[in-house]
Amino acid sequence: MEPKYIINVHGHLRHDQDVAARITLWRKLNVRKFCALCLAPDAARAHGGYYTNEDLLPWLRRYPDLLVGMGALELGRQPDRADAVDRLKEQGFTGLKFIASYYPYNHELYFPLYERAEALGMPVFFHTGWLASAADGSDGRYGINAENYRPYMLDKIARAFPRLKMIGAHLGKPHGDEALQMITAYPNVYYDFSGGSGKKPHELWVAKTLSPCFSDADMSDPAENPALGYFHKLCFATDNPEPPVWIEASNRIMDRLCIPDDLRERFYWRNACEVFGWKEDDL
Ligand SMILES: [Zn+2]
Repeated sequence: MEPKYIINVHGHLRHDQDVAARITLWRKLNVRKFCALCLAPDAARAHGGYYTNEDLLPWLRRYPDLLVGMGALELGRQPDRADAVDRLKEQGFTGLKFIASYYPYNHELYFPLYERAEALGMPVFFHTGWLASAADGSDGRYGINAENYRPYMLDKIARAFPRLKMIGAHLGKPHGDEALQMITAYPNVYYDFSGGSGKKPHELWVAKTLSPCFSDADMSDPAENPALGYFHKLCFATDNPEPPVWIEASNRIMDRLCIPDDLRERFYWRNACEVFGWKEDDL
């Protein structure tokens, strides 16, 4: 089954890439929106040339129909204040990207940022789960600690800001059960399961995490196959590989879990429309 459209809620642009060529490929694949997640300057450098907010701005102006800017904030020992969120909104960013914070995501020092994002209708995208070490070995100095990015850190935020739309990344690997609890409990929390470069060990971990408890489950019964519920809140994402890798992997995962066509449409684009408030006409 070919989905009607594709929205990629999690990707990055990097300096060593031909961005125009990538965009040509995406259009051929019927990708209608690409959420470009920016990193703060230190993290962008440490992780090998990811785009910062400044790097993305000219591309946002060039491809406003396709590129969706997710702006990075300073989340270190002295985090940005709420007016930084206003600035990103004015510059044309649609949402925010949280990663590599010094404090746990649910620390109240960050609450003014969430409060402003909620007021402005800006979805927040969170890296969750283990975070790869910086290529240059610098991240220990910045207090990077994957414990601070567990999916359960979204619990307090979801309770405090019920109108703030959130997407967590990587199904919180290795804490998949926490991620699934969040999407099941909170209407404003969604997830992607990208990661691991889309390679087989990651794909199999995702499939196993979303699978029923017992192998003799009736796959058409949501009580026995809980993935029929999860796919109301899961969104298509690639992180680093190009879309074909994750279209094929996602289809294999959904085949294994007997996901019907209407839920596949939700996964490929409808759930993302709910997060960002887009109508079909906007795609
Ligand atoms: Zn990413």
